[in-house]
Amino acid sequence: METKLFELLEQNYNEIVEIRRYLHQYPELSFEEEHTPEYIADFHKNLGHSVKTKVGGRGVTAVLQGGKPGPVIALRADFDALPIQEETNLPFRSKVDGVMHACGHDGHTAALLGLAKAINTLKDEWKGTVVFIHQHAEEYAPGGAIDMINDGCLDGVDVIFGTHLWATEPYGKIQYKNGPMMAAADRFEIEIIGQGGHGAMPHLTKDAVVIGSQLVTNIQQIVSRRVDPQEPAVVSVGSFEAPNAFNVIADRAKLIGTARTFSEDVRDLLEQELETITKATCQGANAEADFKYHRGYPAVVNHEAETAFLADCASQVPGVTETEEMKPQMGGEDFAYYLKHVKGTFFFTGAQNPDWETTFPHHHPKFDIDERAMLIAAKVLGKAALEYNNQ
Ligand code: MN
Repeated sequence: METKLFELLEQNYNEIVEIRRYLHQYPELSFEEEHTPEYIADFHKNLGHSVKTKVGGRGVTAVLQGGKPGPVIALRADFDALPIQEETNLPFRSKVDGVMHACGHDGHTAALLGLAKAINTLKDEWKGTVVFIHQHAEEYAPGGAIDMINDGCLDGVDVIFGTHLWATEPYGKIQYKNGPMMAAADRFEIEIIGQGGHGAMPHLTKDAVVIGSQLVTNIQQIVSRRVDPQEPAVVSVGSFEAPNAFNVIADRAKLIGTARTFSEDVRDLLEQELETITKATCQGANAEADFKYHRGYPAVVNHEAETAFLADCASQVPGVTETEEMKPQMGGEDFAYYLKHVKGTFFFTGAQNPDWETTFPHHHPKFDIDERAMLIAAKVLGKAALEYNNQ
């Protein structure tokens, strides 16, 4: 059946490209998707799959019931775009001003639809059930995954697989990672409430700039002196604002920053320490502080057996030239939530074209993918679904 599945995917390749180019022209922002989920739902309905729309808001699920008994496998693709003005010269570039598929989610969707069609052709012999999870709003926290899960998209699911096309890794390469793969990405905001005054009479003030400066320095002790050196963690203050005239002492200062971690314990520790140090630093200067900590997506933590299984499947897929265990990276992904509920793994599919002179990174106005990577992604996901059924 594997040979047949790969043949069908190759036959569907032109359609996969057409779907991707169509979606690319009509991108929709996170939490504003209307046309894209309709398009996806229609595609699955035409195949006779049992389709649910507005799952957790704007998500779509489609269920393909195989002719033989077996496990329930979920495959996930996201479908939202970004608030970026496209600057490519592609004939199928975005027709929507200021909105662009600059992360390859159009390609994820096209690959999954092409795979759905191929598996559908084999459905009588197929063992088990495939749940296609088409997720809205990956790019914007709190994201679509958590709402789709709360709306039941994982009910009865045994295992989940998902991939991201990765344009800075070469076409033909698959990257997998056992354990933590992508970081929890949180944001903190601190407002220091001092007391302003004349620049020449500092003794009558509580200088928010001086207090804020001490705070930025004190915060550096969290990672260097509170976190176990074996645990990755980043605390970065990205912005420090206290706009004022040159001869005025600042009343208030605002710091905004990001905290990145892989372990939940370290995440809790960073939040706690940031608050403690903020309060203590301000208290020492007789000033006050308003502290806010916003949690973004948790870390993507892949499951061991499923990751080893996926890596093994990928290495046997024609067209895959290299499989590699990657280093964890500090970016975020709401695929993390699925992995907190069911076993599974997330992996990267290299999508860099060897002929490009310049590779533009994800979220860049000139971002593009090597479209052939969609076929690789579909084959790896398809092989994983097939083999998992045969285990
Ligand atoms: Mn993305």
